[in-house]
Amino acid sequence: MTQFGKQPPVLIFDFGNVVAYFDYRKACDVLGRPLGLSGEALLELARARNFVAILQQYESGAITAEAFSTLFCGLVGLDMPHQEFAAAWSDIFWLNEPMARLVEFLKNEGYRLILGSNTNALHAAQFQRQFAKTLAHFDHLVLSHEVGHLKPSAEFYHACAAAAGQEPASCLFIDDLAENVEGAKAAGLSALQFTEFPKLLRDLMAAGVNISPMFESNSDGR
Ligand SMILES: [Mg+2]
Repeated sequence: MTQFGKQPPVLIFDFGNVVAYFDYRKACDVLGRPLGLSGEALLELARARNFVAILQQYESGAITAEAFSTLFCGLVGLDMPHQEFAAAWSDIFWLNEPMARLVEFLKNEGYRLILGSNTNALHAAQFQRQFAKTLAHFDHLVLSHEVGHLKPSAEFYHACAAAAGQEPASCLFIDDLAENVEGAKAAGLSALQFTEFPKLLRDLMAAGVNISPMFESNSDGR
Protein backbone atom coordinates (compact mmCIF):
# COMPACT_ATOMS: atom_id res chain seq x y z
CA MET A 1 0.00 0.00 0.00
CA THR A 2 1.22 3.46 -0.81
CA GLN A 3 0.05 6.95 0.04
CA PHE A 4 -2.59 6.38 -2.69
CA GLY A 5 -3.93 3.15 -1.19
CA LYS A 6 -4.54 0.18 -3.49
CA GLN A 7 -5.59 2.28 -6.44
CA PRO A 8 -2.73 3.62 -8.59
CA PRO A 9 -2.59 7.41 -8.73
CA VAL A 10 -3.57 9.46 -11.75
CA LEU A 11 -0.30 10.91 -13.05
CA ILE A 12 -0.47 14.51 -14.22
CA PHE A 13 2.48 15.79 -16.23
CA ASP A 14 3.38 19.38 -16.84
CA PHE A 15 4.36 19.92 -20.48
CA GLY A 16 7.03 22.67 -20.72
CA ASN A 17 10.44 21.49 -19.54
CA VAL A 18 8.94 18.16 -18.50
CA VAL A 19 7.49 16.32 -21.54
CA ALA A 20 9.25 18.67 -23.94
CA TYR A 21 11.78 21.42 -23.46
CA PHE A 22 11.27 24.94 -24.77
CA ASP A 23 13.29 28.11 -25.14
CA TYR A 24 11.73 31.51 -25.93
CA ARG A 25 15.12 32.61 -27.26
CA LYS A 26 14.53 30.38 -30.30
CA ALA A 27 11.44 32.48 -31.19
CA CYS A 28 13.18 35.71 -30.22
CA ASP A 29 16.14 34.92 -32.52
CA VAL A 30 13.70 35.15 -35.46
CA LEU A 31 11.55 37.99 -34.07
CA GLY A 32 14.63 40.06 -33.19
CA ARG A 33 16.16 39.94 -36.69
CA PRO A 34 14.13 42.80 -38.23
CA LEU A 35 15.02 44.91 -35.17
CA GLY A 36 18.72 44.07 -35.35
CA LEU A 37 18.48 42.41 -31.91
CA SER A 38 19.74 39.01 -30.78
CA GLY A 39 17.16 36.62 -29.34
CA GLU A 40 18.65 37.19 -25.91
CA ALA A 41 18.41 41.00 -26.26
CA LEU A 42 14.83 40.88 -27.55
CA LEU A 43 13.76 38.60 -24.71
CA GLU A 44 15.40 40.91 -22.20
CA LEU A 45 13.62 43.92 -23.74
CA ALA A 46 10.27 42.10 -23.75
CA ARG A 47 10.67 41.05 -20.11
CA ALA A 48 11.65 44.58 -19.07
CA ARG A 49 8.41 45.81 -20.71
CA ASN A 50 6.24 43.36 -18.79
CA PHE A 51 5.91 40.64 -21.41
CA VAL A 52 4.91 38.24 -18.61
CA ALA A 53 1.70 40.19 -17.90
CA ILE A 54 0.45 39.90 -21.51
CA LEU A 55 1.61 36.29 -21.67
CA GLN A 56 -0.50 35.50 -18.59
CA GLN A 57 -3.52 37.18 -20.19
CA TYR A 58 -2.98 35.07 -23.30
CA GLU A 59 -2.39 31.82 -21.39
CA SER A 60 -5.51 32.29 -19.25
CA GLY A 61 -7.57 32.55 -22.43
CA ALA A 62 -8.45 36.22 -21.85
CA ILE A 63 -7.11 37.42 -25.23
CA THR A 64 -6.84 35.91 -28.72
CA ALA A 65 -3.65 34.93 -30.55
CA GLU A 66 -4.07 37.96 -32.81
CA ALA A 67 -4.42 40.30 -29.82
CA PHE A 68 -1.35 38.75 -28.19
CA SER A 69 0.65 39.13 -31.40
CA THR A 70 -0.38 42.81 -31.67
CA LEU A 71 0.44 43.46 -28.00
CA PHE A 72 3.80 41.69 -28.16
CA CYS A 73 4.85 43.47 -31.36
CA GLY A 74 3.72 46.81 -29.89
CA LEU A 75 5.72 46.12 -26.74
CA VAL A 76 9.03 45.73 -28.58
CA GLY A 77 8.37 47.98 -31.61
CA LEU A 78 8.13 45.16 -34.14
CA ASP A 79 6.11 45.46 -37.38
CA MET A 80 5.28 41.88 -38.44
CA PRO A 81 2.19 40.21 -39.95
CA HIS A 82 0.36 37.89 -37.54
CA GLN A 83 1.06 34.69 -39.52
CA GLU A 84 4.79 35.38 -39.56
CA PHE A 85 4.77 36.20 -35.84
CA ALA A 86 2.74 33.05 -35.09
CA ALA A 87 5.17 30.78 -36.98
CA ALA A 88 8.20 32.17 -35.12
CA TRP A 89 6.44 32.26 -31.73
CA SER A 90 5.35 28.61 -32.05
CA ASP A 91 8.68 27.03 -32.96
CA ILE A 92 10.35 26.70 -29.53
CA PHE A 93 9.94 23.04 -28.48
CA TRP A 94 11.99 19.83 -28.53
CA LEU A 95 11.08 16.47 -27.01
CA ASN A 96 12.44 15.19 -23.68
CA GLU A 97 13.13 11.70 -25.10
CA PRO A 98 13.48 9.75 -21.79
CA MET A 99 10.27 11.37 -20.52
CA ALA A 100 8.46 10.39 -23.72
CA ARG A 101 9.57 6.77 -23.18
CA LEU A 102 8.37 6.93 -19.55
CA VAL A 103 4.97 8.28 -20.65
CA GLU A 104 4.57 5.46 -23.19
CA PHE A 105 5.60 2.87 -20.57
CA LEU A 106 3.15 4.22 -17.96
CA LYS A 107 0.31 4.22 -20.49
CA ASN A 108 1.06 0.59 -21.38
CA GLU A 109 1.07 -0.24 -17.64
CA GLY A 110 -2.48 1.10 -17.43
CA TYR A 111 -1.87 4.38 -15.64
CA ARG A 112 -4.31 7.21 -16.30
CA LEU A 113 -2.28 10.12 -17.65
CA ILE A 114 -3.24 13.79 -17.81
CA LEU A 115 -1.23 16.64 -19.30
CA GLY A 116 -1.57 19.86 -17.24
CA SER A 117 0.01 22.86 -18.95
CA ASN A 118 0.07 26.63 -18.70
CA THR A 119 -0.01 27.34 -22.42
CA ASN A 120 -1.73 29.20 -25.22
CA ALA A 121 -3.55 28.44 -28.47
CA LEU A 122 -0.51 28.83 -30.75
CA HIS A 123 1.84 26.75 -28.60
CA ALA A 124 -0.78 24.06 -27.93
CA ALA A 125 -1.51 23.71 -31.67
CA GLN A 126 2.22 23.46 -32.35
CA PHE A 127 3.03 20.88 -29.66
CA GLN A 128 -0.03 18.73 -30.41
CA ARG A 129 1.23 18.51 -34.03
CA GLN A 130 4.91 18.15 -33.20
CA PHE A 131 4.53 15.53 -30.44
CA ALA A 132 1.31 13.80 -31.57
CA LYS A 133 2.71 10.30 -30.90
CA THR A 134 3.67 11.05 -27.27
CA LEU A 135 0.60 13.14 -26.47
CA ALA A 136 -1.69 10.35 -27.75
CA HIS A 137 -0.76 8.45 -24.56
CA PHE A 138 -2.54 11.07 -22.41
CA ASP A 139 -6.20 10.56 -21.53
CA HIS A 140 -6.82 14.31 -21.38
CA LEU A 141 -4.93 17.52 -22.06
CA VAL A 142 -5.80 20.24 -19.53
CA LEU A 143 -4.63 23.51 -21.08
CA SER A 144 -4.74 26.80 -19.18
CA HIS A 145 -6.07 28.87 -22.08
CA GLU A 146 -8.99 26.43 -22.43
CA VAL A 147 -9.87 26.05 -18.72
CA GLY A 148 -9.34 29.76 -18.00
CA HIS A 149 -7.04 29.21 -15.02
CA LEU A 150 -3.27 29.17 -14.65
CA LYS A 151 -1.01 27.21 -12.34
CA PRO A 152 -0.46 27.69 -9.45
CA SER A 153 -4.14 28.53 -8.83
CA ALA A 154 -6.13 25.72 -7.18
CA GLU A 155 -8.75 25.86 -9.94
CA PHE A 156 -6.23 24.64 -12.48
CA TYR A 157 -5.30 21.52 -10.47
CA HIS A 158 -8.94 20.79 -9.69
CA ALA A 159 -9.68 20.95 -13.44
CA CYS A 160 -6.97 18.28 -13.91
CA ALA A 161 -8.48 16.02 -11.23
CA ALA A 162 -11.97 16.53 -12.70
CA ALA A 163 -10.67 15.61 -16.18
CA ALA A 164 -9.37 12.36 -14.66
CA GLY A 165 -12.65 11.77 -12.84
CA GLN A 166 -10.79 11.51 -9.52
CA GLU A 167 -10.44 13.37 -6.25
CA PRO A 168 -7.35 15.62 -6.00
CA ALA A 169 -5.93 13.29 -3.32
CA SER A 170 -5.75 10.48 -5.92
CA CYS A 171 -3.57 12.55 -8.25
CA LEU A 172 0.21 12.98 -8.47
CA PHE A 173 1.34 16.14 -10.27
CA ILE A 174 4.82 16.38 -11.86
CA ASP A 175 6.16 19.85 -12.65
CA ASP A 176 9.60 21.42 -13.08
CA LEU A 177 8.69 24.62 -11.20
CA ALA A 178 8.67 24.64 -7.39
CA GLU A 179 5.78 27.14 -7.26
CA ASN A 180 3.61 24.81 -9.37
CA VAL A 181 4.50 21.85 -7.13
CA GLU A 182 3.54 23.89 -4.07
CA GLY A 183 0.31 24.98 -5.80
CA ALA A 184 -0.60 21.37 -6.49
CA LYS A 185 -0.01 20.41 -2.85
CA ALA A 186 -2.06 23.40 -1.65
CA ALA A 187 -4.90 22.20 -3.91
CA GLY A 188 -4.85 18.76 -2.24
CA LEU A 189 -2.83 16.78 -4.79
CA SER A 190 0.46 14.99 -4.27
CA ALA A 191 3.26 16.53 -6.29
CA LEU A 192 6.86 15.95 -7.38
CA GLN A 193 9.34 18.46 -8.74
CA PHE A 194 11.08 17.27 -11.92
CA THR A 195 14.72 18.27 -11.86
CA GLU A 196 16.55 15.34 -13.44
CA PHE A 197 15.30 12.08 -14.87
CA PRO A 198 17.00 9.54 -12.51
CA LYS A 199 15.68 11.47 -9.49
CA LEU A 200 12.17 11.51 -10.96
CA LEU A 201 12.29 7.73 -11.37
CA ARG A 202 13.37 7.34 -7.73
CA ASP A 203 10.63 9.73 -6.58
CA LEU A 204 7.98 7.89 -8.60
CA MET A 205 9.04 4.55 -7.11
CA ALA A 206 8.94 6.08 -3.61
CA ALA A 207 5.37 7.22 -4.37
CA GLY A 208 4.43 3.63 -5.26
CA VAL A 209 4.48 3.97 -9.06
CA ASN A 210 5.92 0.68 -10.30
CA ILE A 211 8.40 1.51 -13.03
CA SER A 212 10.82 -1.37 -12.44
CA PRO A 213 9.53 -3.37 -15.49
CA MET A 214 10.80 -0.46 -17.60
CA PHE A 215 14.34 -1.67 -16.94
CA GLU A 216 13.78 -5.42 -17.29
CA SER A 217 14.42 -5.53 -21.08
CA ASN A 218 18.00 -4.42 -20.33
CA SER A 219 18.60 -7.05 -17.65
CA ASP A 220 20.34 -9.48 -20.02
CA GLY A 221 22.85 -6.85 -20.99
CA ARG A 222 21.32 -5.84 -24.35
MG1 LIG B 1 7.09 23.52 -16.86
